Amino acid sequence: MLMNRINLLPENLINQIAAGEVIERPASVVKELVENSIDAGATRIEVQLSNECRNIRIADNGHGIHKDDIGLAFSRHATSKLIDENSLWELSTLGFRGEALASIISIAKVSCYSRTEDMDTGVKAECENSQISVTESGCAVGTVMEVNDIFYNVPARSKFLKKSQTEFSYVSEIVQNIALSHPQISFVLLNSGKSVLRTTGSGDLLTAITEVYSKDMANQLVEVYKEDKTEGLVVRGYASKPEFTRTSKKAIYLFVNNRAVKCPVLLKAVDTAYKDLIPSGKYPFCVLSLDIPPASLDVNVHPSKREVRYTKANQIFNLVIASIKSAVEDLGFVKFQPASTVAFNAYANDVYTAEETKKTSFMNKAIPSFKREYEVDDSAQTFSFVESVKSKQEYEDEQVTISFAPMPSVAVEQQVPRPKIVGQYFNTYILVEHNEGLQIIDQHIAHERTIYERLKDSKEFASQLLLSCVPVEVDDNQAELMLENAELLSRYGYKFEVMNSNRVILKQVPVILAGKNPESTVVELIKALEGSVEQIENEILITTSCHAAVKAGEKLSVWQMEEIIRDWQMTKNNGTCPHGRVIAKIIPLKEVASFFGRSV
Ligand code: ADP
Ligand code: MG
Repeated sequence: MLMNRINLLPENLINQIAAGEVIERPASVVKELVENSIDAGATRIEVQLSNECRNIRIADNGHGIHKDDIGLAFSRHATSKLIDENSLWELSTLGFRGEALASIISIAKVSCYSRTEDMDTGVKAECENSQISVTESGCAVGTVMEVNDIFYNVPARSKFLKKSQTEFSYVSEIVQNIALSHPQISFVLLNSGKSVLRTTGSGDLLTAITEVYSKDMANQLVEVYKEDKTEGLVVRGYASKPEFTRTSKKAIYLFVNNRAVKCPVLLKAVDTAYKDLIPSGKYPFCVLSLDIPPASLDVNVHPSKREVRYTKANQIFNLVIASIKSAVEDLGFVKFQPASTVAFNAYANDVYTAEETKKTSFMNKAIPSFKREYEVDDSAQTFSFVESVKSKQEYEDEQVTISFAPMPSVAVEQQVPRPKIVGQYFNTYILVEHNEGLQIIDQHIAHERTIYERLKDSKEFASQLLLSCVPVEVDDNQAELMLENAELLSRYGYKFEVMNSNRVILKQVPVILAGKNPESTVVELIKALEGSVEQIENEILITTSCHAAVKAGEKLSVWQMEEIIRDWQMTKNNGTCPHGRVIAKIIPLKEVASFFGRSV
């Protein structure tokens, strides 16, 4: 066999091989070039695609490339960004490996026009097969990159491109992502001359979301902001109300120091925050931006720097959960003001005071206040829960929410408007005259959410002996499951005995379940225990709340309805039930009036 002699690979081939890593498709070119424009301090960036996504033109008003540097900019490992070895670990600029331009000119024909402020005329660099020729050319301050015939000389790659429509959808996803992470920059995206996206660069994230999506979408969002001063961490952005969900994870935008990242830990945090607010299989919309000190990050884990490793994964994980929770939990939550700042008559007809609330409440029992803390195991990039019992004060300080039970001993008088009950429909729905229209509330799930939130906040679960003990038939596995979890169940107020290995007799139940059917409670508890381990305690709470709540089909007095509605209005997360179903619907007065040909 003839032995092959060793040859140096031609430069263009070296670049093409490297390009395989950086440039997969037109969207990757767009990403690299737009990031370069951002790094150049541009405030306006225009992206145009044509010729079935094979031609890309990107124009920016950044600081431009100096004429003496332009040749260098297109060679490998040439960058103006990596100053010393330490900055490799930082994430303040988007690109720093100096590979993008060299890769792009190995797989496409590129013309680049650029001018810096101190140059009288601009320069033009024409590149083909990694050969660069530079001439003078008039142009504005900034840079225009024209990338034509992508993959013209790499047929294998070219063949793998999808339909131009699909390729464009990748491009548009990238531009959306970048536009949302840089609301201070104006972006324009055109496809074959048609404008597809336009942001004004107002600097306001909500405006950018409105421009990328719509006003309707922006109306579904709440602002998120939380910081951890000791670690120098900040989470900011917007997240959807629990009533608004999407069917895919696509609209969960996560940015670390203004860069889009793929990060299981952050995704898990978002998931955990919404866990008992939205149904499983549904996802929120959110745009969350994290500021993390560069020293706590390792960004070189992934070649295109989409993956980040943190040194403070736990703190970050918890901060993201807390930031979303405190934003969405504020919703629909009647905020109280102390009497000293608001003049009102405590016994006026339309107002309940805290004292009165305490006296009349038919559900005001207490339970262990466990505060969930989440821990991320960063080596495995998985996470686990740690539960610690914290004092109520600590819990409140951290969560910045107002809780109900027990009521403060020094009566801070709080005012809650008395709901105007219209009536009960079908013994299942409570109709309320709301200031925005006719509100229809599902009585069972509204009550369930109220009880669930109280149980979560309470200190100890008062338990009550059952007088009549009805045995419930279970199978061996189920009996075993009950026994295994006996201690846990007793913490939540349930005590039982197992007879002859297949009969369970409930001896004690939480006080709020007194008078409810113990048989169905056992069945539901078993279901809770059969679920995923991490969810068991939550499911026990949901089961307890579900059983304690009024049922659909149960006739209620006006007094009961008032109390259920008033308590529910004061409850956090009151938009959905613990399994994510929407609790209330409002039919706007306008709609009712216009049906009858009236105007309001
Ligand atoms: P990197 O971005 O990793 O430095 P690139 O190959 O993407 O590598 O770019 C090489 C260099 O070209 C950059 O460091 C920058 O100095 C210059 N450059 C590229 N695009 C622009 C632009 N739009 N405006 C100004 N300078 C640019
Ligand atoms: Mg770059």
